[in-house]
Amino acid sequence: MNALTHPIPAFDLTRQHARLLPELVEAAREVLASGHMILGANVAALEQEVARLCGVEHGVGVASGTDGLYLALRALGIGPGDEVVTTPFTFLATATSIVRAGATPVFADIEPDTLNTSARRIAEALTPRTRAIVVVHLYGNPVAMEPVMELARARSLKVVEDMAQAIGASYQGRPVGSFADAAVISFYPTKNLGGCGDGGMVVTRDGEVAERLRILRDHGQRHRYVSEDVAGINSRLDELQAALLRVKLRYLDAFTERRRVLARRYREGLAGLDVVPLAETPGGRSVYHQFTVRSARRDRLQAYLKEHGVGSTVYYPVPLHRQAVLQERVAHPRPLPEADRAAQEVLSLPMFPELEVEEVERVCALVREFAVGSA
Ligand SMILES: *Cc1c(COP(=O)(O)O)cnc(C)c1O
Repeated sequence: MNALTHPIPAFDLTRQHARLLPELVEAAREVLASGHMILGANVAALEQEVARLCGVEHGVGVASGTDGLYLALRALGIGPGDEVVTTPFTFLATATSIVRAGATPVFADIEPDTLNTSARRIAEALTPRTRAIVVVHLYGNPVAMEPVMELARARSLKVVEDMAQAIGASYQGRPVGSFADAAVISFYPTKNLGGCGDGGMVVTRDGEVAERLRILRDHGQRHRYVSEDVAGINSRLDELQAALLRVKLRYLDAFTERRRVLARRYREGLAGLDVVPLAETPGGRSVYHQFTVRSARRDRLQAYLKEHGVGSTVYYPVPLHRQAVLQERVAHPRPLPEADRAAQEVLSLPMFPELEVEEVERVCALVREFAVGSA
């Protein structure tokens, strides 16, 4: 392997773990010595730290982002008979959680420049049965929240932010997670604040919603061994996970700055090509969970990069309105041409804080070769 030809992975956690190993091991050692494994001091501290980062009062640690979405909807009173408008261009869990809560997803198409949903698109999908909106800050780039919240207020709708990919992002200077009735974070290891296993959190400024979440994540128990809600599940966050996440949280700002530096390099290196980076939301600050481009020749571009040792990923190849398991559960199906086109054209290039600038430059050079060579 030499420096010019070593493979460049789409994502690599080993570099981060090598650097943080002593701190991570020490945090784990302390938890093991304490003997307290679930919902203890580390979870409580992480809940406060993450809530503060999101500009709200309350955080409730849960077992995954997926559970967090389900629990947030239930805590907001969403259930059977309710329609929930969301985006078809997201990870499965955004919509399957709506189904799991007993409600019916309705898909609104996305904006072609950011691939995020918008108030304008959501408005087209509202019906008298609509009770809630789930927005997704896709790839770490915030949805323009102000018009969404205005629409929700006018129609008395609940709003959930799926910020699984967007911890630390902001819109008009306000952190994502502070706009909606509840917001859901994932600590899946590849996320911007990634744990060493599964985990998640729901943040909210509403104390009553937080209280319901605490009950729902623990079998519906307010008092031990008495359930007051069968919607309750076992979805607690454990102490080891929280302790390891607290170590990584100390570096999150630096990681985000680094992602933004790398994104800038990508933009400079790809300027003027027919392989086009997605736009940042005006007034928004993306945390670049992914750096994603569009190309009409996406599959060939991905193959070309792979031939030259560069990893890349398609998020997402099958939009949710094309998922067989969801099709019969969705209300008011309509053509979603932008989501269909995005699924054909997107490619996420290597992006993680430990990626070297030289590596980004090599990826850009390959993309330029491809774009020029086949024009
Ligand atoms: C990762 C992700 C989820 C699910 O989070 P898990 O912690 O993996 O359950 C939900 N929505 C989006 C947009 C995601 O990226």
